[in-house]
Amino acid sequence: MTTTAPASPTRTTPGGTDTLLDFQNVAMQFPNGTIALQGVDLTVKRGEFVTVVGPSGCGKSTLLRIASGLEQASEGTAAVKTDRIGYVFQDATLLPWRTVSDNVELLAELNGRPAKERRAKAQEAIELVGLSGFEKNLPKELSGGMRMRTSLARSLTLDPELFLFDEPFGALDEITRERLNDELLRLFVEKQFAGLFITHSVSEAVYLSTKVIVMSGRPGSIVDTFDVPFPMPRSPEIRFEAEFAKLVGEVSHALREGHR
Ligand code: ADP
Repeated sequence: MTTTAPASPTRTTPGGTDTLLDFQNVAMQFPNGTIALQGVDLTVKRGEFVTVVGPSGCGKSTLLRIASGLEQASEGTAAVKTDRIGYVFQDATLLPWRTVSDNVELLAELNGRPAKERRAKAQEAIELVGLSGFEKNLPKELSGGMRMRTSLARSLTLDPELFLFDEPFGALDEITRERLNDELLRLFVEKQFAGLFITHSVSEAVYLSTKVIVMSGRPGSIVDTFDVPFPMPRSPEIRFEAEFAKLVGEVSHALREGHR
């Protein structure tokens, strides 16, 4: 791979553009020589919820890390046109000694927001994710789903315009995952952030998204893109409809083809 000038994410203040994330020809080669991504063109606009599916190790997390600024692409341009970015990981990453409300306040606290303001923000976020009544609980007293709700609430306090999700529900049982999918869609409609979501589950991808991106095996590149036609807000019942099953089948097929 030829390496041109390293691309650092360009960050500009919001306003004037509908494209919040714009990756052009992004590649990532780690110092040990591993090429994780190659030739990735990807945009995420306001109003879009884009999900990325692909085999393990194809560079999905790397893509999110570049979007968040944690990692720098080795080639191409990676522009992120907002500084209000939420990031939720597969692990809820809560501080075990802090209560739910103290965990939710953490980012606002690190950002130096005044105590009164961050408490109000945290309370609002806790209500949004359905955790009212659990404010004083410690993480060890919560179920996996509740820990993930706490993690979501913590990011919501930043009022993200672009929300990055790295397989946040991958470790949860199916019923809890489906419930959290519904909650997330409700938040997407209500708070109007743009989403970039990673998952292994094709049905989760189709259910949540306005667009599904399929990646090849490493080095990951985009092999197919599917627009999801179902209007928002979505009813859980669409999971049983023929059109939904057909799209899940098409995405699964593209995933298998890209993995060869
Ligand atoms: P995915 O999220 O699709 O499972 P990752 O983005 O985590 O994939 O990783 C893509 C590839 O890059 C994997 O082969 C992984 O081992 C490798 N990789 C990830 N981070 C580093 C790193 N810091 N140094 C070297 N290789 C890495």
